[in-house]
Amino acid sequence: MDDCIFCQLIKEPHHINFLLEDEVGIAFNDINPQAPTHCLVIPKRHVASAKELGEKDVALLGHLMGLCQQVASLTGIHKEGYRYVMNTGENGGQTVNHLHFHVLGGRRMGWPPG
Ligand code: AMP
Ligand code: ZN
Repeated sequence: MDDCIFCQLIKEPHHINFLLEDEVGIAFNDINPQAPTHCLVIPKRHVASAKELGEKDVALLGHLMGLCQQVASLTGIHKEGYRYVMNTGENGGQTVNHLHFHVLGGRRMGWPPG
């Protein structure tokens, strides 16, 4: 998708330091961190949001979850706990229309979310 900022990041990787990359996805630090550790895990394939996901995407989701787990281990947040977030649509607070998991940790998270 030409007008998607995350597709642009994937195409022009010198703009960003990837924490992890494989054939399916990438992980990188969020530009506006909301916690001491705040990374994003995204698929290389453009998927606009979780609204588009279904049974056909089981393998993709499993793979992305594996990348999230690796990010949690690499950053050390797996020891104390962490939070995965996938904002979806307007009311969900999604601002970038390319599927992404937020991986947040390094502080105690509040509940309920804002
Ligand atoms: P969401 O609001 O759930 O759609 O999350 C989008 C996230 O992408 C926000 O946390 C932004 O700070 C982050 N973001 C936007 N542009 C960039 C960028 N160029 N590099 C890293 N993170 C970004
Ligand atoms: Zn995209």
